[in-house]
Amino acid sequence: MNVESFKQYSLEKDMRTALQENQFFLHYQPRVETTTGKIVAAEALIRWSHPEWGIISPGEFIPLAEESGLIIDIGDWVLDEVCAQLSKWQEEGIQIVPVSVNVSANRFLRNNLTEAIQATLEKYQIDSSFIEIEITESTMIQYHDAVFRTLEQLRDLGIKLVLDDFGTGYSSLTYLKKFKFDTLKIDRSFIQNLDTNPEDQAIAANLINLAHALNMNVVAEGVEQISHLERMKKKQCDQIQGFLFSRPVDHKEFAEKLKKKIIKPVVEKQKNLNKS
Ligand code: C2E
Ligand code: MG
Ligand code: MG
Ligand code: MG
Repeated sequence: MNVESFKQYSLEKDMRTALQENQFFLHYQPRVETTTGKIVAAEALIRWSHPEWGIISPGEFIPLAEESGLIIDIGDWVLDEVCAQLSKWQEEGIQIVPVSVNVSANRFLRNNLTEAIQATLEKYQIDSSFIEIEITESTMIQYHDAVFRTLEQLRDLGIKLVLDDFGTGYSSLTYLKKFKFDTLKIDRSFIQNLDTNPEDQAIAANLINLAHALNMNVVAEGVEQISHLERMKKKQCDQIQGFLFSRPVDHKEFAEKLKKKIIKPVVEKQKNLNKS
């Protein structure tokens, strides 16, 4: 076995105990209003503090969790943790913002997603307007009918729905026609080369117009440069999520940002941009 496949094997094996031993934790990345830098929402992003391998990013273990089925338990843990955190912030008198949670495709196959979310909201006395659900286009494609039914139930519950990584899947436009999402997130791959790539400029500008024409909010993901922000401002993109305003941070750091309410854009040194 080479190191990579040994690592995969060991991660898969260790994931169940990880949940029992509280090795998962969340980071929160702000979503800000483009024109003001005001924090309007956050995305909860999971990390795994592995006793031997250190901090592991979701890109590495979520696919394994999806394969093993443990993603269901992990997803329930994420939702519980977010609601618990929102409730703590409220008790501390911090003015909270909606937090979005990424939900994997397989979760939609279980028919109790809506009930599970409702029960967690009740457990922590959190209003449904403070939770948003992010799904990707590939989820829509894989599990069509079950997904549509569940999305409608979630919407009836008052939960906002976000179409994530928009533009990277296919048949996306059909889904926009069939289901009314509240928010569309333009994938980072269309943003990162905005300054030099006229195709990306055209795509981003037209996705913003499309979102507005369909009454959706639009978020540019992966904004790292002032020039990206300026371009998105000019095209009237509603919100920005990216390292320019903040990396995903732990709950303490996020609470500090919530207290300040407004974030100023800061360009990071080039060498740091590759780690998250
Ligand atoms: P995503 O939902 O598209 O989340 C955004 C990813 O982009 C995050 O990576 C974030 O750190 C990164 N990002 C944000 N702004 C910038 C930027 O300016 N530059 C760069 N280079 N990257 C930026 P992260 O945290 O590694 O998460 C990767 C993916 O893992 C997420 O993509 C999501 O699909 C998945 N994921 C994360 N947490 C969960 C979870 O709790 N459940 C599930 N099912 N999936 C999750
Ligand atoms: Mg997401
Ligand atoms: Mg995304
Ligand atoms: Mg992504």
